[in-house]
Amino acid sequence: MRRWVPTLLFLVLAAGLLWPAPAASASGTWAWPVVGPVIRPFDPPASPYGSGHRGIDIGAPYGTQVLSPAPGVVTFAGPVGGRFFVSVDHGGGMASTYSWVSGVALRKGDAVSVGTVLAWTGEGHPGSSLPHLHFGVKRDGAYIDPLDVLSPGSVVGLIRLAPLT
Ligand SMILES: [Zn+2]
Repeated sequence: MRRWVPTLLFLVLAAGLLWPAPAASASGTWAWPVVGPVIRPFDPPASPYGSGHRGIDIGAPYGTQVLSPAPGVVTFAGPVGGRFFVSVDHGGGMASTYSWVSGVALRKGDAVSVGTVLAWTGEGHPGSSLPHLHFGVKRDGAYIDPLDVLSPGSVVGLIRLAPLT
């Protein structure tokens, strides 16, 4: 991982220069948990139990490292119904979730910082044809659009330089 970080940062910065403002621009400070295109956007349900999409799907090859986007403490990491999930409390009412991952790297109670490996991506939503990470963000217990907290630009453009393999 350590050797990857400078390369990744360079690519992100380079892509940011080439594509400074993607249409679905993010507007926060969190790092992206995986590098890839948003293949399904946030779609808030009309009611707390209604249908919708409580997060974004970020396309990523199976087994990609999922990195913590911000400092925090792991509140859940393990299997539910045969699939793996991770949740992190970031303090200040913010929390994040990582769904249908293929494995978890940490345990409940572990502290994480930006870039800590949380998990490895899986197939994504059951029945999906493109492997991806389902990434959810909660503010004060309610799901919000993760693009509101992710750092802007670049990553959506990066995929044009480095297509999924
Ligand atoms: Zn999803």
